[in-house]
Parts: sequence; C-alpha cells; structure tokens
Amino acid sequence: MAKLSEYRRKRDFGVTAEPSGKTGKKSAKAARFVVQRHDATRLHYDFRIELDGVYKSWAVTKLPSGDPAVKRLAVEVEDHPLDYGSFEGTIPKGQYGGGTVQLWDRGHWIAQSDGDPLKALKAGHLKMVLDGERMKGGWALIRLRDKAKRPGKKVRHNWLLIKEKDDYATPGEEEALAAGTSIKTGRTLEEIAQGKKKTAARKKKAKTAVSKKKAVKARAQKKSPSGRK
Ligand code: MN
Repeated sequence: MAKLSEYRRKRDFGVTAEPSGKTGKKSAKAARFVVQRHDATRLHYDFRIELDGVYKSWAVTKLPSGDPAVKRLAVEVEDHPLDYGSFEGTIPKGQYGGGTVQLWDRGHWIAQSDGDPLKALKAGHLKMVLDGERMKGGWALIRLRDKAKRPGKKVRHNWLLIKEKDDYATPGEEEALAAGTSIKTGRTLEEIAQGKKKTAARKKKAKTAVSKKKAVKARAQKKSPSGRK
C-alpha cells in the first residue's frame, strides 16, 4: 500500500515490534480511533482515526483537553497501518520513535457532517464525534496555515485539536482527561517499559469480577434451595 510507504521507510521491522502493516487488516464496520501516549524524545499523544484504509495520524504535543477554550497543537504525521491500533510496548532506542507506547484511549468515531471526511481533511477542517473511553463527544481538527516552505525541507502540517462545547466538555478544567494508565492493560508507562504484563489493580479487578459471578450464582442457588429439579 503506497499510503504506508513513509511509515515503512522510517522503520526497521527486524528490530522494532511495531506492525509492518503487511497483513492488510480489514476495516471494521464502524471507523475506529486510537490515542497512543508515546514517551519518546518528548512525551506526546498520537491521535489516529481510521479513514481510507489507514490510520490518519497526528502527534498531539500535550494531553488532549476537555476544555473547549484550550487548543492543542496536533502535528500531522504519516499514515499508520490499522493493526497499529492495538500496539502497546517499547520501540527500541535508535529506532524511529524509540520509546514506550501506551494505549491511552480507543473507540469509534463518525464525522459530524454527511460529506466525505477525506475531503474535509483535505480542506483542513474535520468535525468528529468520538466514542472512546476517555475522549467523548464533539471534537474538531483544524489545520493551521502552513509556514513558508524552506527549500529542501518538507512542510509539516500543523493542526489544532479542540473539544467542542457539549455535555462531555469540561470548561475550566484543562487537565480533566489526565490519566496515567493504559485502557487495555491498566499499565503505567513505567510498567510497560519494564515489560510487566498486568498491574495489581487489573488483577484485583479481574478477581472482583469472578467473586461477583460467584455471588450471583450463590444467590440463584439460594432462591431454589434444591439446586436442581
Ligand atoms: Mn509518536
């Protein structure tokens, strides 16, 4: 897929555990989005939306804010393969993007208007509805005017990621979405970097779920003391 050539060129798949995107994972019915917290040279949030068979991607330089008054700089980066959406782990030092990747949010998204979202992106203005675990409701991506191109330098498109005013907005609370754990494994960046499998909190949660099941079973048995007919 030509769309992923820049993604592949930057990476040595013999060294990094990131997906090469060769499996050609099929698109799900509802378009997905994912946010990967990436502890690289600088900590940032990689915001990706499924569109046109790939993840359109931006590196958001700070924690996405639920406050509609706060605009976050989102630097457009290369398209990523769809199987990147489940990647959590460590990219080896010296590799492109070397550092720890944490699944910070994921879910589905739709465009707010009926038109072609790809066209909206080309026009530099995309309004979305996100249904994630942390990012919810209306959000907008707005492209800034490109800086004058320096000869031989590739233009990097800068965008703004902005929360829209709705029930999910948190006016006056810039950091309302702050959370240090993975939505998939409950791990902190440090635990992912150390290669720990699951956190104690996650294990406890799993245990609670089991004992809840047992309690329901016990209650059901109480209702029919014979246990069987
Ligand atoms: Mn990144």
